[in-house]
Amino acid sequence: MSKKVNIVRSLKALRKETAKWRYKKRSIALVPTMGALHDGHLSLVRLARKKADRVVVSIFVNPSQFAPHEDLARYPRDEAGDVAKLAAVGADLVWAPSVAEMYPDGFSTAVQPGSAARDLEGAFRPQHFGGVATVCCKLFSQVTPDIAVFGQKDYQQLCVLNQMVRDLNLPLKLIGAPTKREPDGLAMSSRNAYLTSEERQIAPKLHATIAALAEDVRAGADIAARVAAAKRSLLAAGFGKVDYVEVRDAETLAPVETGGQGARRVLVAAWLGKTRLIDNVAA
Ligand code: AMP
Repeated sequence: MSKKVNIVRSLKALRKETAKWRYKKRSIALVPTMGALHDGHLSLVRLARKKADRVVVSIFVNPSQFAPHEDLARYPRDEAGDVAKLAAVGADLVWAPSVAEMYPDGFSTAVQPGSAARDLEGAFRPQHFGGVATVCCKLFSQVTPDIAVFGQKDYQQLCVLNQMVRDLNLPLKLIGAPTKREPDGLAMSSRNAYLTSEERQIAPKLHATIAALAEDVRAGADIAARVAAAKRSLLAAGFGKVDYVEVRDAETLAPVETGGQGARRVLVAAWLGKTRLIDNVAA
């Protein structure tokens, strides 16, 4: 049976709840989200449940990580549906501040993310990681979690935030959770709701292409040639534009030129119609 989830909208009320938990020596996990929750998000909550005594899920569509031309206004929102799903997986508290609560008048401080943010998504969305790092830093100091769970679906985001936590000595541990996929391989994403039925049929090709590339890289294939072939096959499948297909060091995200030893990650971003999809796999 689902338990009731406490929805908190003011920082004062949030601090009251977390202080009670701290007094009782309960550990706290935070799962930051922008809502429109799917099973990928819920898998993070389930993992958080196993790792801590109390689970806070934040729902905040963060304006500062969207550029003016991006999809902030049409980003899907369904708070009532989200809360019902979170009750079913045993979250304890939903932290759902308004934009005014998060960024009160006069707000003007920002975190400048480090080297992990420089290219890939950073090249195509220059403001993005600054917005993500700043809001996550705020969420960490608002909720004071012992751990925070993020999806490997946004692999570069995880690298950027790990670097921030390390560099700023933030007192929590980040956990990266595996990407949840649809049966046909498409990574679950709130943005999949934008796809037309025709685009939805093409979309799994994104994962299939990087999975095949990763296998070839592991087998020692020529990376530049295989990356070029992967881009061609995405365009042939119906993707309109491929922002990047890259093979990178799994930790530093530095470019990798040769196959063989070492942990690597294949990362991709490509457009299907008006929707930009990202994905990544280990190689
Ligand atoms: P978002 O609401 O898109 O900001 O995502 C919130 C968190 O859920 C981030 O840590 C994402 O990486 C994670 N996430 C999104 N999609 C998936 C997925 N398919 N599998 C696992 N985690 C995911």
